[in-house]
Amino acid sequence: MTLTSAQYDALKQKLDAMKRRIQEELKHRDPAQFAHVEIGDASIDDTLQHDAMSQYLHQHAEWEAVQRASARMAENIADVCKECGETIPFARLEVEPTAERCIRCQGELEADGRRLHLNTHSTM
Ligand SMILES: [Zn+2]
Repeated sequence: MTLTSAQYDALKQKLDAMKRRIQEELKHRDPAQFAHVEIGDASIDDTLQHDAMSQYLHQHAEWEAVQRASARMAENIADVCKECGETIPFARLEVEPTAERCIRCQGELEADGRRLHLNTHSTM
């Protein structure tokens, strides 16, 4: 952990703000609407349901990322790359407080993802 206490506090504040925002967004969302659409006529609300669902899943993933980042902060490893153990620069965390990897590892991960994606398509 190489963050100064000021950087640590700044990061914590960002994560807290993200938590509050997601909580607000989830509060205005009624989970029952999914159940309702599911038993209704799927063809009418299909697009709507898909949009709402992907937004919901996105928020859920974001929420989990914030929770993980908070746990990493509690363990004093918020700026340690989970892949290679290198220090994640504060400038990166400032932009992306939930980052768990250094830029190099994140880049490799995304390149792998693209390769995987391409392969999936070429075999079909
Ligand atoms: Zn790394």
